[in-house]
Amino acid sequence: MRKPLIAGNWKMYKTSDQAVKLSAGLKASLKDFTAADVVLCPPFTVLNTVYNVINDTDMQLGAQDLFWEKEGAFTGEISPIMLKDCGCEFVIIGHSERRKYFHETDATINKKIKVSLEVGLKPIVCVGETLEEREADKTIEVIKTQLSGGLLELNIEDMLNVTIAYEPVWAIGTGKNATAAQAQEVHKFIRNWIVERFSQGVSNTVRILYGGSVKPQNAKELMAQEDVDGALVGGASLEVSSFTDIIKNSI
Ligand code: PEP
Repeated sequence: MRKPLIAGNWKMYKTSDQAVKLSAGLKASLKDFTAADVVLCPPFTVLNTVYNVINDTDMQLGAQDLFWEKEGAFTGEISPIMLKDCGCEFVIIGHSERRKYFHETDATINKKIKVSLEVGLKPIVCVGETLEEREADKTIEVIKTQLSGGLLELNIEDMLNVTIAYEPVWAIGTGKNATAAQAQEVHKFIRNWIVERFSQGVSNTVRILYGGSVKPQNAKELMAQEDVDGALVGGASLEVSSFTDIIKNSI
Protein backbone atom coordinates (compact mmCIF):
# COMPACT_ATOMS: atom_id res chain seq x y z
CA MET A 1 0.00 0.00 0.00
CA ARG A 2 1.51 3.32 -1.08
CA LYS A 3 1.06 6.23 1.33
CA PRO A 4 -0.28 9.26 -0.57
CA LEU A 5 2.07 12.19 -1.05
CA ILE A 6 0.83 15.70 -1.60
CA ALA A 7 3.39 18.35 -2.46
CA GLY A 8 2.87 22.07 -2.74
CA ASN A 9 4.95 23.84 -5.37
CA TRP A 10 5.01 27.49 -4.34
CA LYS A 11 6.83 28.46 -7.55
CA MET A 12 8.15 32.07 -7.41
CA TYR A 13 5.73 33.22 -4.70
CA LYS A 14 6.07 34.18 -1.03
CA THR A 15 8.48 36.49 0.75
CA SER A 16 9.57 35.57 4.27
CA ASP A 17 6.58 37.01 6.12
CA GLN A 18 4.18 35.39 3.68
CA ALA A 19 6.04 32.08 3.88
CA VAL A 20 5.85 32.07 7.68
CA LYS A 21 2.13 32.83 7.54
CA LEU A 22 1.40 30.04 5.06
CA SER A 23 3.55 27.38 6.69
CA ALA A 24 2.34 28.27 10.20
CA GLY A 25 -1.25 28.15 8.96
CA LEU A 26 -0.69 24.69 7.49
CA LYS A 27 1.02 23.56 10.66
CA ALA A 28 -2.12 24.47 12.59
CA SER A 29 -4.65 23.11 10.09
CA LEU A 30 -2.78 19.82 9.57
CA LYS A 31 -2.01 19.20 13.22
CA ASP A 32 -2.16 15.44 13.91
CA PHE A 33 -2.77 14.69 10.21
CA THR A 34 -0.72 11.66 9.18
CA ALA A 35 -2.78 10.00 6.44
CA ALA A 36 -0.57 11.46 3.69
CA ASP A 37 2.97 12.72 3.39
CA VAL A 38 2.85 16.49 2.94
CA VAL A 39 5.81 18.26 1.33
CA LEU A 40 6.20 22.04 1.02
CA CYS A 41 8.41 23.31 -1.80
CA PRO A 42 8.99 27.04 -1.28
CA PRO A 43 11.51 29.20 -3.17
CA PHE A 44 15.18 28.83 -2.19
CA THR A 45 15.17 32.13 -0.29
CA VAL A 46 12.68 30.91 2.31
CA LEU A 47 13.69 27.25 2.64
CA ASN A 48 15.30 27.91 6.01
CA THR A 49 12.42 30.06 7.15
CA VAL A 50 9.86 27.37 6.34
CA TYR A 51 12.07 24.67 7.83
CA ASN A 52 12.12 26.53 11.13
CA VAL A 53 8.31 26.58 11.18
CA ILE A 54 7.67 22.95 10.20
CA ASN A 55 10.61 21.01 11.58
CA ASP A 56 8.62 19.80 14.58
CA THR A 57 5.73 18.57 12.40
CA ASP A 58 5.25 15.64 10.00
CA MET A 59 5.45 18.01 7.03
CA GLN A 60 8.62 17.77 4.97
CA LEU A 61 10.59 20.31 3.01
CA GLY A 62 11.40 20.21 -0.70
CA ALA A 63 13.14 22.50 -3.16
CA GLN A 64 11.98 23.33 -6.68
CA ASP A 65 15.25 22.68 -8.48
CA LEU A 66 18.99 22.21 -7.90
CA PHE A 67 22.28 22.17 -9.82
CA TRP A 68 23.99 18.91 -10.76
CA GLU A 69 27.36 19.64 -9.13
CA LYS A 70 27.92 19.49 -5.37
CA GLU A 71 29.98 22.70 -5.28
CA GLY A 72 32.09 24.90 -7.50
CA ALA A 73 32.24 28.05 -9.57
CA PHE A 74 28.65 28.03 -10.81
CA THR A 75 27.41 31.54 -10.12
CA GLY A 76 23.77 31.71 -9.17
CA GLU A 77 23.24 27.96 -8.77
CA ILE A 78 22.21 26.00 -5.68
CA SER A 79 23.81 22.66 -4.86
CA PRO A 80 22.19 19.52 -3.44
CA ILE A 81 24.37 19.80 -0.35
CA MET A 82 23.02 23.30 0.28
CA LEU A 83 19.48 21.99 0.01
CA LYS A 84 20.22 19.26 2.55
CA ASP A 85 21.75 21.91 4.76
CA CYS A 86 18.46 23.86 4.65
CA GLY A 87 16.55 20.79 5.79
CA CYS A 88 15.24 19.61 2.41
CA GLU A 89 14.30 15.98 1.97
CA PHE A 90 12.77 16.30 -1.49
CA VAL A 91 13.53 18.21 -4.67
CA ILE A 92 11.32 18.78 -7.71
CA ILE A 93 13.27 18.07 -10.90
CA GLY A 94 12.30 18.68 -14.53
CA HIS A 95 9.20 20.78 -13.94
CA SER A 96 7.74 21.82 -17.29
CA GLU A 97 8.34 25.49 -16.49
CA ARG A 98 12.03 24.69 -16.19
CA ARG A 99 11.98 22.66 -19.39
CA LYS A 100 10.21 25.51 -21.18
CA TYR A 101 11.86 28.68 -19.85
CA PHE A 102 15.29 27.33 -18.90
CA HIS A 103 15.69 24.77 -21.68
CA GLU A 104 16.20 21.82 -19.37
CA THR A 105 16.59 18.56 -21.23
CA ASP A 106 16.21 14.93 -20.22
CA ALA A 107 20.03 14.79 -20.10
CA THR A 108 20.39 17.66 -17.61
CA ILE A 109 17.42 16.35 -15.65
CA ASN A 110 19.17 12.98 -15.45
CA LYS A 111 22.30 14.63 -13.99
CA LYS A 112 20.18 16.44 -11.41
CA ILE A 113 18.36 13.26 -10.42
CA LYS A 114 21.64 11.39 -10.00
CA VAL A 115 23.27 14.03 -7.81
CA SER A 116 20.19 14.38 -5.65
CA LEU A 117 20.16 10.63 -5.02
CA GLU A 118 23.88 10.70 -4.25
CA VAL A 119 23.34 13.11 -1.37
CA GLY A 120 20.13 11.51 -0.11
CA LEU A 121 17.57 13.94 -1.51
CA LYS A 122 14.42 12.36 -2.94
CA PRO A 123 13.66 13.64 -6.43
CA ILE A 124 10.10 14.34 -7.59
CA VAL A 125 10.60 13.93 -11.33
CA CYS A 126 8.09 15.73 -13.55
CA VAL A 127 7.01 14.43 -16.94
CA GLY A 128 4.20 15.57 -19.19
CA GLU A 129 3.11 16.33 -22.72
CA THR A 130 2.12 19.64 -24.32
CA LEU A 131 -1.29 20.18 -25.84
CA GLU A 132 0.11 19.83 -29.36
CA GLU A 133 1.71 16.52 -28.42
CA ARG A 134 -1.55 15.23 -26.93
CA GLU A 135 -3.52 16.32 -29.95
CA ALA A 136 -0.99 14.59 -32.21
CA ASP A 137 -1.51 11.40 -30.19
CA LYS A 138 2.05 11.50 -28.93
CA THR A 139 1.42 11.53 -25.17
CA ILE A 140 2.74 8.05 -24.43
CA GLU A 141 5.74 8.48 -26.74
CA VAL A 142 6.68 11.76 -25.01
CA ILE A 143 6.32 10.31 -21.52
CA LYS A 144 8.37 7.28 -22.48
CA THR A 145 11.19 9.45 -23.85
CA GLN A 146 11.19 11.65 -20.75
CA LEU A 147 11.25 8.62 -18.43
CA SER A 148 13.97 6.78 -20.35
CA GLY A 149 16.21 9.86 -20.59
CA GLY A 150 15.55 11.28 -17.14
CA LEU A 151 15.99 7.98 -15.33
CA LEU A 152 18.90 6.75 -17.45
CA GLU A 153 21.36 4.50 -15.58
CA LEU A 154 19.39 4.53 -12.32
CA ASN A 155 19.33 1.22 -10.47
CA ILE A 156 16.59 -0.35 -8.42
CA GLU A 157 17.79 1.13 -5.16
CA ASP A 158 17.89 4.60 -6.72
CA MET A 159 14.41 4.23 -8.14
CA LEU A 160 12.94 3.34 -4.75
CA ASN A 161 13.76 6.92 -3.71
CA VAL A 162 12.18 8.54 -6.77
CA THR A 163 8.66 9.94 -7.04
CA ILE A 164 7.20 10.61 -10.49
CA ALA A 165 4.81 13.50 -11.13
CA TYR A 166 2.70 13.29 -14.27
CA GLU A 167 1.93 16.89 -15.15
CA PRO A 168 0.32 17.47 -18.53
CA VAL A 169 1.71 20.86 -19.58
CA TRP A 170 -1.69 22.00 -20.86
CA ALA A 171 -3.15 21.49 -17.37
CA ILE A 172 -0.55 23.45 -15.38
CA GLY A 173 -1.83 26.77 -14.14
CA THR A 174 -4.62 26.76 -16.73
CA GLY A 175 -7.54 25.73 -14.54
CA LYS A 176 -8.13 22.84 -16.97
CA ASN A 177 -7.19 19.59 -15.24
CA ALA A 178 -6.84 16.22 -16.92
CA THR A 179 -9.90 14.07 -16.34
CA ALA A 180 -9.49 11.25 -13.86
CA ALA A 181 -9.57 8.78 -16.76
CA GLN A 182 -6.88 10.67 -18.71
CA ALA A 183 -4.67 10.80 -15.63
CA GLN A 184 -5.18 7.11 -14.81
CA GLU A 185 -4.33 6.08 -18.38
CA VAL A 186 -0.94 7.79 -18.27
CA HIS A 187 -0.24 6.77 -14.67
CA LYS A 188 -0.90 3.15 -15.58
CA PHE A 189 1.48 3.45 -18.51
CA ILE A 190 4.15 4.88 -16.19
CA ARG A 191 3.58 2.10 -13.64
CA ASN A 192 3.97 -0.57 -16.33
CA TRP A 193 7.04 1.16 -17.72
CA ILE A 194 8.61 0.96 -14.25
CA VAL A 195 7.87 -2.79 -14.12
CA GLU A 196 9.71 -3.31 -17.41
CA ARG A 197 12.61 -0.99 -16.70
CA PHE A 198 13.09 -1.89 -13.01
CA SER A 199 10.87 -4.55 -11.42
CA GLN A 200 7.36 -5.32 -10.24
CA GLY A 201 8.40 -4.64 -6.66
CA VAL A 202 9.77 -1.19 -7.51
CA SER A 203 6.66 -0.40 -9.51
CA ASN A 204 4.45 -1.34 -6.57
CA THR A 205 6.41 1.03 -4.34
CA VAL A 206 7.06 4.15 -6.43
CA ARG A 207 4.52 6.93 -5.98
CA ILE A 208 3.14 8.58 -9.09
CA LEU A 209 1.59 11.98 -8.45
CA TYR A 210 -0.76 13.90 -10.69
CA GLY A 211 -0.21 17.63 -11.19
CA GLY A 212 -2.10 20.21 -13.21
CA SER A 213 -4.85 22.46 -11.84
CA VAL A 214 -5.53 20.26 -8.81
CA LYS A 215 -8.16 21.98 -6.66
CA PRO A 216 -10.32 21.04 -3.69
CA GLN A 217 -13.14 20.23 -6.14
CA ASN A 218 -11.25 17.72 -8.31
CA ALA A 219 -8.59 16.28 -5.99
CA LYS A 220 -10.67 13.46 -4.57
CA GLU A 221 -11.70 12.03 -7.93
CA LEU A 222 -8.17 12.26 -9.33
CA MET A 223 -6.60 10.66 -6.29
CA ALA A 224 -9.19 7.89 -6.19
CA GLN A 225 -7.66 6.44 -9.38
CA GLU A 226 -5.77 3.22 -8.85
CA ASP A 227 -2.41 4.51 -10.02
CA VAL A 228 -2.65 8.08 -8.73
CA ASP A 229 -0.79 8.23 -5.43
CA GLY A 230 -1.08 11.90 -4.65
CA ALA A 231 -0.71 15.32 -6.15
CA LEU A 232 1.77 18.04 -7.02
CA VAL A 233 -0.18 21.24 -6.44
CA GLY A 234 0.82 24.68 -7.68
CA GLY A 235 -1.66 27.56 -7.40
CA ALA A 236 -3.92 25.90 -4.84
CA SER A 237 -1.00 25.28 -2.48
CA LEU A 238 -0.53 29.01 -1.93
CA GLU A 239 -3.47 29.37 0.45
CA VAL A 240 -3.92 27.50 3.73
CA SER A 241 -7.59 26.76 3.10
CA SER A 242 -7.32 25.35 -0.44
CA PHE A 243 -4.22 23.26 0.25
CA THR A 244 -5.71 21.92 3.49
CA ASP A 245 -8.98 21.08 1.71
CA ILE A 246 -7.12 19.20 -1.02
CA ILE A 247 -5.18 17.20 1.54
CA LYS A 248 -7.99 16.43 3.95
CA ASN A 249 -10.78 15.84 1.45
CA SER A 250 -8.92 13.61 -0.94
CA ILE A 251 -7.57 10.96 1.39
C1 PEP B 1 2.70 22.79 -10.68
O1 PEP B 1 3.23 23.85 -10.44
O2 PEP B 1 3.36 21.75 -10.68
C2 PEP B 1 1.26 22.77 -10.95
C3 PEP B 1 0.69 21.62 -11.18
O3 PEP B 1 0.59 23.98 -10.94
P1 PEP B 1 -1.00 24.20 -10.85
O4 PEP B 1 -1.52 23.30 -9.75
O5 PEP B 1 -1.16 25.64 -10.55
O6 PEP B 1 -1.58 23.81 -12.18
